[in-house]
Formats: sequence, structure tokens, C-alpha cells
Amino acid sequence: MKNATEILDTYEQVGWKNNDPMAQVLQLRRDAPHALAELVLQAVDRQLESATFIDAALDLMDDSDYIATVARVWRQPRQDADSDIAGAILDSAALQHPDVFAPDWERLLMAAHAGHGGPSYQEDHAWRAIDRATLDDWLAGLEQDLSEGSVGRKRAIALLRSRRPDVVLHALQRLFPDPSDAEAASWLHQAGYATRAGALHALHGERPLHIGFSAEQRKRMQAEQPAWRRDIYKSHPTWISPEKPTTHARMGGVLSALCGLCHAPLHRLLALADPDAAGVPSGAALEFATCLSCQGWEADGALFYRHDGQGLPTTHPVQQRDAPLTPDYVASPLLEAQVDLFQAPARWRWQDWGESNGRQNLSRVGGAPSWVQSADYPECPDCGRHMDLAMQLDSGLPQADGGEWLWGSGGCNYTFWCKDCRVSGQLWQCT
Ligand SMILES: [Zn+2]
Ligand SMILES: [Zn+2]
Repeated sequence: MKNATEILDTYEQVGWKNNDPMAQVLQLRRDAPHALAELVLQAVDRQLESATFIDAALDLMDDSDYIATVARVWRQPRQDADSDIAGAILDSAALQHPDVFAPDWERLLMAAHAGHGGPSYQEDHAWRAIDRATLDDWLAGLEQDLSEGSVGRKRAIALLRSRRPDVVLHALQRLFPDPSDAEAASWLHQAGYATRAGALHALHGERPLHIGFSAEQRKRMQAEQPAWRRDIYKSHPTWISPEKPTTHARMGGVLSALCGLCHAPLHRLLALADPDAAGVPSGAALEFATCLSCQGWEADGALFYRHDGQGLPTTHPVQQRDAPLTPDYVASPLLEAQVDLFQAPARWRWQDWGESNGRQNLSRVGGAPSWVQSADYPECPDCGRHMDLAMQLDSGLPQADGGEWLWGSGGCNYTFWCKDCRVSGQLWQCT
């Protein structure tokens, strides 16, 4: 086994050529897990490029080592303001442990925007941990200049991302005095809200349940993967379901209801016996489905379904064609499986699609979306209001025919829900 210094020395000399730092990190985790912290801290002071094994080391650290490590990186004054690795570590902290920035919120504000030793692009997620005294202080300052580039504006944007509804609305009104400004709606969506009759409406929940795949699904998902990724699938807390998961759900197969576009049977994504337990308000069972052949290819925007009292979907009338179209590609349904839904440790409630980089499980019900692109909540075809996020499914799901389902070129699918109209929407994004 190589120790932390040897892993970094070798990587500095030869990079990835005939060298497998990812395997070395996984070995280190097995034999000396606390040494991952040493590896990450040493890496901060070196100029390393494409060092994705450092991100993996961060992901794989236990919670107490992680918290201690990000705290040290945040507190350490750095001469080299542009350490990519320090920026990446603080990016992950903004998602996984934003409390690390307390009580230096003013410093975070300056660091993030000036590029001096702060997170490089995820700082918006950190503001959800901001304390009440700082909030009140910054709210009082909203009367100042909010022009582009001003400190007042930076604070207002931070308040918009604070996840405190009263504060969010106040900051929005100061930033966008004209309520019909389209930019206001888009900023608000990015923060996970919409306005309804002047009040704030949350477009997603805070506590996701991760999908724990069946043994057969896992076997197929791992089959084509490199060894390091198989190793991570077996050890990362977002992939491993506890002995007693919160609830179960059914994935895959087809329904008797037909796609409104190609008239082939709909593909089941997830049937939830108790969607309310997963934070999807329904009051009854709910079955999410789509047409994998048509969604994203044969229609612009989302596909919509109405759900009956039992939760079964039928194509929404606005997307029902009289004559079937012929899809360019006829997709096999997802592999039928019983899956677990479980609560991963709090550190994994917020996840970023780019930052996860294939290491974390992003398939989850409820919680905040991990957008591939910018926030996009479709409007319910019945009431016209923006729909809430209910679920997201990442690429790589095994199909019944042995294939591996990718959303576009390897993106993520988002399922939306309007509880008042009992309408679901399906939309995927890819790079
Ligand atoms: Zn179809
Ligand atoms: Zn509706």
C-alpha cells in the first residue's frame, strides 16, 4: 500500500500514465481510512491537475474526518488564492456541510466572489446554513445599493438562497422590483421556489430518500464499470441501503396504459405504495411512468400524465395523438425490480450532478434536484402552475433487454408532480 505522500509524489511525477491513483485511494480507505484526510490536506498545497482521486477521497471519508478536513481547509489562510483543490474541497462543503463556513459568512461572501480562497462555484448552496443574526444584519442592508457587482447585491443573492421563505421573498422583491420580470422567476426557480398569488411556494422538499437498487440491478450496473467505480458502489453511503430501509418501491416493466404519441405501452419508472413517506404528497399509491422511446425525442419539453385514484397514469389529453407516430428508436423498458428507499446520512441531502461525477448515487425520491443544466420546472398542463420535483433518476439504469438506459447522452431524468391536479411530468436534461 502507498501512503498519502507516496500517492501524491507518484501522481506528480507521472500523472495517470501507468499509474492508478484511484485504486491507491481505495486501498488507503480499506487499510488506513483516516489517512484520506492527510492525503487531501497534502494535496491542497500542490498544483495537481485532473486529480479526481482527491474528490473521491473526500467522498469516501467518514463524516467526522470530512468535517475536520473541510474546516481546516477553510480556516487555513492561503498564499496561493487559486488552489483548484482547495476550491473543489470548499465546493463540496457548500453542499455537504455548509455549517463549516459559520460564523464567517461575510468572509465567504467576499471569498466566493473575488476568487480568494473560497468555493469556486457552489457557494450558493452554502447560504442555507446562514445564521439568523447575519440574515437580519444583511436584510437591514438591503436598502443600500444593489447594482451589479455591489456588496449589497451579493448579499441579496445570498439571502435569496437562504431557504428561509420570508427572507427569500424579501430579497427577491428588492432585487426585482417588477414582479413580472422573467429573470425574477428564473432566479427563484434556481433557488427552488415559485410565487403563487404573491406568496412563496417551495418546488422541492429537503429530505430525499435514495433508491437502493436490487442485487440484480447492482450486478448489471457494475458489470461494465472500472474496478474503482465498482468499489465505490459497494462502499458509498448513497449506494448502500441500510438493513431497514424507510420503504420499498417497484421499478421497471410496462403498464397497460399506452403512450399518447407512439401508442406503445408506457414504461414504469417507479411505483410507490406510500409516496407520502417519500415526501410526495398524494394520499394514495402513485405510479410514475413515461415512454422511454418518445420522451425527449418525439416531443419538446416534458411528457405529462394524469393519475387516477389508484395512482395509475394515463397520457395527458394534450399529448394524445389520434394516429401513432413511429419513434426513431424503440426503447426496452427498465429491468423489473423491487428497490429500497432509504435515508442516507444528512451529508448527502444536497448533491450536485457535476460534482458527483459518477461516484454518488443521484437516483432519489424527494429532496432538491441535481440539475444537469439550469433549473427547469415545467408548468402543469391543467392548472398552469410550476410543478414540484418528486424524483430524479440518473443514467445507467439496467433495462429488460440487457441494455443500460442513458437519458440523452448520459443525463438525468426529473419527475414532477402537481398534487392538486394529480398530474405528473417527465423531463430529462443532459450535457
Ligand atoms: Zn411513445
Ligand atoms: Zn396542476
